This record gives sequence, C-alpha cells and structure tokens, in this order.
Amino acid sequence: MTRAEKLTFAITGMGCVGCVLDRENAVMPMAGVEYVGVSLSSRTMTVRPGPGFDRAVIASRVRMLGYGIDEAGSYDAAPRSDCPCKLNSRRPAGSSG
Ligand SMILES: [Zn+2]
Repeated sequence: MTRAEKLTFAITGMGCVGCVLDRENAVMPMAGVEYVGVSLSSRTMTVRPGPGFDRAVIASRVRMLGYGIDEAGSYDAAPRSDCPCKLNSRRPAGSSG
C-alpha cells in the first residue's frame, strides 16, 4: 500500500484570512483533492491528492481566481492590500486592516 504524498504549492497574492478560506473553498471540492490546507503565515497550500488528481488543473484554478502559484517554491510573498478574495466575493463595508 502506498499513501498519497502531500503536495505543497507556494501561493502568492494572499493578504488576509479571507484569502485562505477563498482558496480552501475553491480547491476542496475539485476532483482528485482529498484534502487542502492553506497557510497564510507560510503562504503555502498543501494538497493531498486522490484519484483523478491533476496538479495543472489545480494550479490553473488558483490562478483563475487571481492568485499566483509557484510550484518551484521560489516566490514573492509580499503582502498586498487589494486582496483577490475581496474581488471574488462582495463583502459589506466594515473594518479593514
Ligand atoms: Zn484577502
């Protein structure tokens, strides 16, 4: 028996916890994804692949939502104020910080 190995992607463009939830909600229901966990502090997305997993599809999905993904692991993790998550889903005006 071989256990599926977890894959880690470097994600760019995440600025807040909303970005994290945005990523998880977008990737979790995709085919071939058994588990996804996004870390804001390390700016990585960990995926446990299942049957039908295609990393190119996952990567294109992330990019489509306005984030960058770098499978090589070298990336610019500079925070940004204009979170893609706020463009993807409307949120009521409130505290910003
Ligand atoms: Zn955000």
